[in-house]
Amino acid sequence: MTTANLLDFDLEGLAAYCGQLGEKRFRATQLFRWIHQRGATDFGQMTDLAKSLRDKLASAARIEALPVLSQHESADGTVKWLFDVGNGDAVETVFIPETDRGTLCISSQAGCAVGCRFCSTGHQGFSRNLTTGEILSQLWFAEHFLRKHLGKTERVISNVVMMGMGEPLQNYAALVPALRAMLDDHGYGLSRRRVTVSTSGVVPMIDRLGHDCPVALAVSLHAPNDALRDSLVPLNKKYPIAELLDACQRYLAHAPRDFITFEYCMLDGVNDQPEHAHQLVALLQGHGGQGVRAKINLIPFNPFPASGLTRSGNAAIDAFARIVNDAGLVVTVRKTRGDDIDAACGQLAGDVQDRTRVGERMAVQRSIRVQDITLRSREASL
Ligand code: SAH
Ligand code: SF4
Repeated sequence: MTTANLLDFDLEGLAAYCGQLGEKRFRATQLFRWIHQRGATDFGQMTDLAKSLRDKLASAARIEALPVLSQHESADGTVKWLFDVGNGDAVETVFIPETDRGTLCISSQAGCAVGCRFCSTGHQGFSRNLTTGEILSQLWFAEHFLRKHLGKTERVISNVVMMGMGEPLQNYAALVPALRAMLDDHGYGLSRRRVTVSTSGVVPMIDRLGHDCPVALAVSLHAPNDALRDSLVPLNKKYPIAELLDACQRYLAHAPRDFITFEYCMLDGVNDQPEHAHQLVALLQGHGGQGVRAKINLIPFNPFPASGLTRSGNAAIDAFARIVNDAGLVVTVRKTRGDDIDAACGQLAGDVQDRTRVGERMAVQRSIRVQDITLRSREASL
């Protein structure tokens, strides 16, 4: 008999599951807290549950996170994990400590079908959607692992960004319960403002997210006109910029923040010229007559072999930022973190394409147990 993995459920789902076992809803709440707040995997530990329930769960269910293939720590404190999702596929998760927060960057798919020109994940094609359990498992593992290794009892991860591998809004059914567990007070209790879904622009799903589970939204724009965006983000041919910005305006009615973040990857000689900056300003300030409340995040391109693209120079990035800023829009330049361990934006490859090599490496790495990996304590940077 295959057992249910309880990491697959948000609280509603767990309550329904407990209902099937003839248990009341408050039992699901207790169980949910054991799993997500305390990181329990053993039903025997759950001493406030009746022994009969613990026995029932032990035979019908499990709490099973993704196996860790490797862990790398950057000189700047960033930690990257590679998780095995089977069939030679792996996904990456990155923890970024800052003085006032701890951010976890989570993957939603093995590979990605959107195929953006500047993205390493996109170059590797699409393998499959992750399940809710596989998405949540990244947070569950990172939170409890870091707590243990940093000797903390309180929460380490305060922010989640769905900016790892994959297009989260092309895996909507699995994404929403995972987001709900992140937000749930009996789960991770994260604020809606501190959970960000980043999308290349799946317009109908932006609307659904606004109704089902509004969290902070980041839109990967990367170009101020359709011709250029078509060539960088192929999904633009299906959902062009005007439709995307309409969806952003509708989303703002539900969003926990009063702006949308627009990500703009700075590509040398491609989208980084002063005329692009002026066009971007006109676009965001003019759309629909009243404009879209926006914050612009310039991301210096993180190169990878085979992209054939290069990072804009600092002078071009500064000049671009100045034009946007002088026009009255809020603009930030993203600091690159973890690039010495290939953990920066767009470098998350997970080695989806090279199955043979991954297979070989997995064979070696399977022998590494998570407990054997020592994480240098970086209390100061947390
Ligand atoms: N699929 C979603 C979320 C994952 S990508 C999306 O596209 O929004 C997260 C962010 O990293 C996006 O803004 C993406 O455009 C950016 N990105 C991808 N490749 C990059 C690269 N090589 N350098 C810098 N940023 C990159
Ligand atoms: Fe997919 Fe996002 Fe990469 Fe585009 S940038 S290929 S949508 S992961």
